[in-house]
Amino acid sequence: NEFHDANLDDVIKMNVDKSGYIKPTPVQKHGIPSLLSGRDLMACAQTGSGKTAAFLLPIIQHIVTSGLRPYEEMNQQARRMKQFPFALILSPTRELAIQIHKEATKFSYCTNVMTAIFYGGKENYRDQLNKSRYGCHIVIATPGRLIDVVNQGYVSLEQCKFLVLDEADRMLDMGFEPQIRKIVSLGLPDKMARQTAMFSATFPNEIKKLAEDFLKPNFVHLA
Ligand code: AMP
Repeated sequence: NEFHDANLDDVIKMNVDKSGYIKPTPVQKHGIPSLLSGRDLMACAQTGSGKTAAFLLPIIQHIVTSGLRPYEEMNQQARRMKQFPFALILSPTRELAIQIHKEATKFSYCTNVMTAIFYGGKENYRDQLNKSRYGCHIVIATPGRLIDVVNQGYVSLEQCKFLVLDEADRMLDMGFEPQIRKIVSLGLPDKMARQTAMFSATFPNEIKKLAEDFLKPNFVHLA
């Protein structure tokens, strides 16, 4: 299995094996080492390119090797527990968020890595909040709902050291740019103090501008 050449923990390699992945796709082959080395990344990648594993495996690797515990604190003012995730993954749609969450659960099997998901729709809100109360290292969310849970004091982005913008062009097409910019200003560490990965099927000027604003100047660009 070619994934064994990557600098991943044995338990993660085992989960990759169980998923039936044998040969990394191009975005995985080049993206995983870049993200493991701490570099920022802008990758032109379509759905089906394997981009999900390209960002999830390095995030999970980081959490597993650093022995990070899910961190939470009592928010006295709001009288509720507040989660401090290590990584935030933004998705344009709930369908994509659910898909990422499934992959994250698969790759973090037999590790202590905890993942929470937040997306729009009233009927799931309580349920999502209840699940996140067990702690979370990774938050996967749609932009509007994420702003909601931050504003209500359920989640803080202060300890978030890894940001992923998945399908960034689609998020811009759907008019999420103000929300994305707001999230980045909601207490998330400065770009020099975090790692950021952007994935986009197209690379128009708006995406270039976003990359310039959100990524460190020496980011890796996979065309
Ligand atoms: P993605 O582009 O991340 O949405 O992945 C598209 C599909 O390809 C998903 O069903 C993945 O589980 C699958 N996949 C991703 N990478 C690989 C790989 N290296 N080998 C086999 N299947 C993969």
